Amino acid sequence: MKKILITGGAGFIGSHVVRRFVNRYPDYQIFNLDALTYAGNLENIKDIENHPNYHFVKGDIVDEAFINELFLNYNFDGILHLAAESHVDRSIEDPLAFVKTNVIGTMNLLNAAKNQWKDDFTNKRFYHISTDEVYGSLGAEGLFTETTAYDPNSPYSASKASSDHFVRAYGETYGLPYVLTNCSNNYGSYHFPEKLIPLFINNIINNKPLPVYGDGNYTRDWLFVEDHAIAIDLVFHNGNNHETYNIGGFNEWKNIDLVKLLCQIMDQKLGRAEGTSQELITYVKDRPGHDLRYAIDASKINKELGWKPSVTFEEGLEKTINWYLENEEWLQNVTSGSYKDYYKKQYS
Ligand code: NAD
Repeated sequence: MKKILITGGAGFIGSHVVRRFVNRYPDYQIFNLDALTYAGNLENIKDIENHPNYHFVKGDIVDEAFINELFLNYNFDGILHLAAESHVDRSIEDPLAFVKTNVIGTMNLLNAAKNQWKDDFTNKRFYHISTDEVYGSLGAEGLFTETTAYDPNSPYSASKASSDHFVRAYGETYGLPYVLTNCSNNYGSYHFPEKLIPLFINNIINNKPLPVYGDGNYTRDWLFVEDHAIAIDLVFHNGNNHETYNIGGFNEWKNIDLVKLLCQIMDQKLGRAEGTSQELITYVKDRPGHDLRYAIDASKINKELGWKPSVTFEEGLEKTINWYLENEEWLQNVTSGSYKDYYKKQYS
């Protein structure tokens, strides 16, 4: 019987990871620790809330005393750490909130794990889930590899880079058995509609403008979230200690091309004349410090652990769009309240 702590399991990626672990590993006890910030939503994991191996704990990873007590009470064997402030635009508004959760929160978990496991690290594992944004920006050519130097440009990526460094340092200094992954942009169900793909799907449904930053030439590598969850499962169980793995979709898109593709698919789905949704595209003032291009070389995880994306981008987008169209109530619920105020401020 293993006790596994998953942080941030009420968020976008975390909910997919919690669902996968609860369903696939009935002999594990899964503890989902989440502060339920604006981005955390228990609706995201409603389907598994009554499983006997699932437990929800509401709490803040920044609260050191709470984290220490939690570890004393439960004696976890493994930690998958996903809780984070995750939106770049919000990090520009309030960088300190990102330092608190992403850096101090990670430190609290590292210390609690180190103190609990003492020097006996047998069958223990601390898994830190991170982003490719820590590597900074690429020009037109090249890919991020596991040895690319860190060069973060936004307060979000700087906070994630800092937490990555602490995880590595705990491995080197105290021997903490860690694994770390840096992944490209995810898309899929339960994605909070402040991020590009769900934001645009939601705006197209509601005939609202589609705000495209700058000239729309920013390029991102997109990965279906369920494929990220599969990779996380593999790395947690089969990855080598003290190793980093890059995870990506081998799937680069310029923002403007992706938006046009979404418009085209949505016009078909909604029975609108071709080109209708494209008229909603509005170019808005660029984000400061905006990274031009991210692209991942995921050959290490492919060669060592046999992982590759299981769906094509077309298949993943189809599943994602269908999910949003079938779950309009979820969309309405998450877009009400504080998110609306933030959205108004950001794009008015
Ligand atoms: P998200 O914003 O959807 O979810 C974050 C979750 O963490 C929420 O449920 C929130 O309530 C919780 N949380 C925030 N602050 C907390 C705190 N102080 N204590 C406890 N819980 C707290 O984020 P996501 O997109 O699912 O990202 C999850 C992780 O994956 C993050 O670490 C992120 O950096 C990383 N990541 C995300 C992407 C992506 O494309 N979304 C890509 C690569 C890596």
